[in-house]
Amino acid sequence: MTSLYDVPVTRLHGVGEERAKALAGMGIKSVGDLLEYFPSRYEDYRVRDLTQVKDGERVTLLGTVYGQPSVRFYGKGKSRISVKLVMDRVVVTAVWFNQSFVKNKLVPGKEILVTGKWDRHRLQITVSEVAEADSERAARRGDLAPVYSLRGDVTHALLRRLMMQALRQYGQEIQEILPEEIVRRYRLLPRSQAIQAIHFPKDAESGRQARRRIMFEELFLFQLKIQALRRINRQQTEGRAMSIPMEEVRQFVRSLPFPLTDAQKRVVKEILDDMRAPYAMNRLLQGDVGSGKTVVAAIALLAAVKAGFQGALMVPTEILAEQHLHSLENLLSPCGVQVALLTGSLTAKQRREVLGSLQMGLVDVVVGTHALIQEDVFFSRLGLVITDEQHRFGVEQRRILRSKGLSPDVLFMTATPIPRTLAITAFGDMDVSTIDQMPAGRKPVVTCWRKHEQFPAVLEEMRAELRRGRQAYVICPLIEESEKLDVQNAIDVHAQLMQTFPEFRIGLMHGRLSAKEKDAVMHAFLSGEYHVLVSTTVVEVGVNVPNATYMVIYDAERFGLAQLHQLRGRVGRGSEQSYCVLIADPKTEIGKERMRIMCETTDGFELSQRDLELRGPGDFFGTKQSGLPEFKVADLVSDYKALEVARQETARLVADPSFWQEERYRELREYLRREGVLDGIVFD
Ligand code: ADP
Ligand code: MG
Repeated sequence: MTSLYDVPVTRLHGVGEERAKALAGMGIKSVGDLLEYFPSRYEDYRVRDLTQVKDGERVTLLGTVYGQPSVRFYGKGKSRISVKLVMDRVVVTAVWFNQSFVKNKLVPGKEILVTGKWDRHRLQITVSEVAEADSERAARRGDLAPVYSLRGDVTHALLRRLMMQALRQYGQEIQEILPEEIVRRYRLLPRSQAIQAIHFPKDAESGRQARRRIMFEELFLFQLKIQALRRINRQQTEGRAMSIPMEEVRQFVRSLPFPLTDAQKRVVKEILDDMRAPYAMNRLLQGDVGSGKTVVAAIALLAAVKAGFQGALMVPTEILAEQHLHSLENLLSPCGVQVALLTGSLTAKQRREVLGSLQMGLVDVVVGTHALIQEDVFFSRLGLVITDEQHRFGVEQRRILRSKGLSPDVLFMTATPIPRTLAITAFGDMDVSTIDQMPAGRKPVVTCWRKHEQFPAVLEEMRAELRRGRQAYVICPLIEESEKLDVQNAIDVHAQLMQTFPEFRIGLMHGRLSAKEKDAVMHAFLSGEYHVLVSTTVVEVGVNVPNATYMVIYDAERFGLAQLHQLRGRVGRGSEQSYCVLIADPKTEIGKERMRIMCETTDGFELSQRDLELRGPGDFFGTKQSGLPEFKVADLVSDYKALEVARQETARLVADPSFWQEERYRELREYLRREGVLDGIVFD
């Protein structure tokens, strides 16, 4: 049987070359494409009772023409026709502008349907569409008419007519694509019925059911593509199965000064399972700031080393590299693991030494910035790469490693909480592990929102905290268009604070400083030399200054929720109660809502979910190039549950050998082939 994607639209009556071209401009080439061009909403043509119609509303009314229409011409080609219509107990005036041709339809005594804008005071309707009451449209008088997004010369009248024709002529040939058991289990409309009803719903409920079915199908097919890709990747990447001495790993975990949280245990298992499997790991580990990712990284590194491999931990800045070196040495040295640092600021001699020991296999774990994977760095047996807040590690870096004969397991760590819906779509081909639980005993940061006029009072509160020996951050406003203004702001605030707090030392950090200068400022804050750090947003992710317990974020309305949360994560890292004060006079409701949300919750995942709801998925990552797919009907926010279900079902499906062979899944495999997922792969 030929697929409807192979039937050109020119097969439809009234579609010649010209119209085919116009349709192609909307992505419609085949009858299959046409039927999948879904309406964005419906226009209500159901006849209304006048008593329930509001002034200015768009309505459809049914009435009998009473007397002759009056026609008036004025100006160039301009005309106005009006006629009286009798309905129930009222007489209303129907008016047409510049449509003198309707005059012939207005025969006294005839029933007509008019659609247009209602003027309650004049009892008048300005008509945009008219039909005779016994016409085809009137016969379907309860109608919800589909509204499509149009382009070029294609009109609604044309598209609706073609759609009806296509359904009449080819409706029987619409194939079910979802597996029968899925359709049954989730009580979905059959595909042909859903497509019929999404274009021409009998009533609101049947439209809703049709939408539900098509939304599910979209998410299902999308997830199927991802799951199939993942499976194929796994079968094709030449990773290696590490044999990890699990007893040694368990012993290490027992030796930690704290028990792992359940979430940490779960992600450790997921990671080690990947490392022991024959494919190369490609996993995202997300966990809120302070959720304890470092120790998870340490366990994975230990496992790799004990299995006979080397590990590397990559971070974005030197300060972070030093901090990680420190924590890893504390954790791993007692187990006989050699840890080294490799950053851009090593002397040539130090660098040569580290490179030499790496190549000879004397170093087990190396921590560093991206200097780590430069061309002259060679490992003797690299098995695991972990990146922390390092989104730059991508295709190119993998290529460099592969060119050295390496295809290590890779784990990406991030503290940017990504709502699950986005994680499993944007990072679709990656496996995702989530630490969704904080170690016991954490004190959430107390957050409050103050107006600008209260800034002096806030500074007095801060003074009290500083007198107790604590440190504070003051974050300066973000000016989107200009880094220069950011810097100027920071300089101004710094000057103001120097005046307000003559008794304290105040550091200044901004993007115009060199890496060296930034490091120096950061070190001075870390060592307690500075009491206050005034900073633009360059204050580094992941930096740990447990004595800093107070943060002021100036012009907080300029930041997104995710960013505010990241900034706030710089405090609350010690045993003392910490505070975060948002200084903001937001003008919009959304802005106010953001401030309220920040005060209500310190849970990064809840925050990011609410941010997503406020802003929509397109804006979530800040840029439009987020790599998120565009769905026709599905909505990542409101159809969250369906996405989860689709993911589980498709994962199960592709893992089942019968999926790749049996006739009943042929349509789905055909879909994967059309989407290029199965290019070059031969089954059977
Ligand atoms: P992040 O996920 O932000 O990188 P860290 O790994 O820096 O978090 O952990 C933050 C702090 O919590 C560290 O001091 C670490 O020792 C501690 N920690 C980690 N796991 C636990 C746990 N299970 N119980 C108690 N403290 C923990
Ligand atoms: Mg960390």
